[in-house]
Amino acid sequence: MILRSTTTNCRRSKYMTDTLALVFDLDDTLMDTYGQLVMVAHQNACAAMNRAGLDVPVEELMATRLRLMSEQPRADVNQLLAQHYGSEDPEIIRAGFETYFNPDFTNIEPFPGVHEMLAQLQTEHDLFLVTSGYQKPQQKKVEVLGIGDYFREICYVPVDQPEGKREAFKYLQNKYGCDFERMIIIGDRINNEIVHGNYLGCTTVWVRHGECAHILPEGPHEEPRLTLEAIHHQPELLQKLSS
Ligand SMILES: [Mg+2]
Repeated sequence: MILRSTTTNCRRSKYMTDTLALVFDLDDTLMDTYGQLVMVAHQNACAAMNRAGLDVPVEELMATRLRLMSEQPRADVNQLLAQHYGSEDPEIIRAGFETYFNPDFTNIEPFPGVHEMLAQLQTEHDLFLVTSGYQKPQQKKVEVLGIGDYFREICYVPVDQPEGKREAFKYLQNKYGCDFERMIIIGDRINNEIVHGNYLGCTTVWVRHGECAHILPEGPHEEPRLTLEAIHHQPELLQKLSS
């Protein structure tokens, strides 16, 4: 089930044929989650797994966690880490998973230029945000970043649903009547929003930033239509798509 909240910012009553639906990811697409939250979240996850019974010093857990992530970037590192030390205890794995996806923060910022970019794009296109994670911290990020009003709708996809973003894209297509061909999916995860966008026939744009920048396409189904090194290159995006 997709949890969602609709903003009050609906400017158009029906979908216009000259309008694109720009569907943004949040983490490491509109904000530098990797730089601002990720390493602390990994550290806290290691401490939580230690408290839950994984009897290894937190410093060693952290070093092993980072190594395992670089070796197997598509796997759940909490499970890998527990298994590495001979544990299959679901409580230990859960402690790491939930701590990582519930980061504690007060001050976060979007990438430079994001407010200006969204404000400009909003005048000509319909903007949507589709983010996966636990809903409460993801909602808090949107609130602290002050970006909620740019989007016609925000979809919060449960973190345990690997195909949740595909369902969210289908939901938006159905609700707003925008063809998949006119839907542009913009995100940092080859093995999430890019592969799901490709599957549906959307145009996909890979923002190659952050923790998952080294997860490369493993076949045509994972190849993005365009690649950006950072979201502030996005103003060139629509020009590139139309050329
Ligand atoms: Mg992301």
